[in-house]
Amino acid sequence: MNLTELTGKLALVTGGSRGIGAATAIALAESGADVAITYSSSAEEAAQVVKQIEATGRRGFAISADAADASAVEAAVARAVDVLGGLDILVNNAGVGAVGLITDLTLDDLDRVLAVNVRGMYVAARAAAAVLPDGGRMIHIGSCAAARVTSPGLALYAMSKSALIGLNKGLARDLGSRGITSNIIQPGPIDTSMNPADGPYAAAQRSHLALDRFGTPEEVAAAVVYLAGPATSYITGTELTLDGGHAA
Ligand code: NDP
Repeated sequence: MNLTELTGKLALVTGGSRGIGAATAIALAESGADVAITYSSSAEEAAQVVKQIEATGRRGFAISADAADASAVEAAVARAVDVLGGLDILVNNAGVGAVGLITDLTLDDLDRVLAVNVRGMYVAARAAAAVLPDGGRMIHIGSCAAARVTSPGLALYAMSKSALIGLNKGLARDLGSRGITSNIIQPGPIDTSMNPADGPYAAAQRSHLALDRFGTPEEVAAAVVYLAGPATSYITGTELTLDGGHAA
């Protein structure tokens, strides 16, 4: 069995214009899938990702859809189904970081982060659940901060990512009768513009790892392809930790 064979599969990656989502969209295409991506503000970067998808010989297109806007997310799923001709794989990736002590963050900060990191993922999962065929896949990008918070300033972000554990387990139960799997990847620090490996918090994060380096978006993308592929049809409701030993 080719563990990464996705020829003919149809995928949607939310937040696919940059970072982990962009690497994931390209990796899915390299494995044979046609891929739609959403973005909220990085139109040029999204167009570049589409070009890279097309360079693999697969179809790609980008949809402007703010994850905080439920109707835009629902419309994006509908458009992906329309243009691709169906949907087999949802990668729920769009997310925002939040760093600040609880005494410094505002209620607007709370609402903004939950709107994207929790509500946006729930809405995308709900819309995809209505259209995925038997055997479809959902893969959500969480964070190692859901299990272990190693520094101050992460209460809001960790809370938002912890919520996804419950969502993922519930989705596995709701969709299991249709053979649809739902799993969550829990990355440690990954070198993206959200969390640069040379950023102000990088050394502190590295100090909590067994491997003394940040992960790459491509390493997360490879795990997504694995969970979307033929080898993992009996894995559901679980977490794949990809954290450089953050939990060790
Ligand atoms: P980046 O900031 O590099 O990229 C974020 C992506 O999400 C971009 O494509 C961005 O598109 C999109 N996005 C952000 N807000 C919205 C929105 N409101 N609506 C639609 N799309 C949106 O982040 P990462 O690649 O690092 O993060 C991706 C996911 O991985 C997130 O869920 C994050 O929490 C998680 N993660 C990241 C880790 C890290 O260390 N980097 C560690 C653990 C988890 P646009 O620019 O168009 O807004």
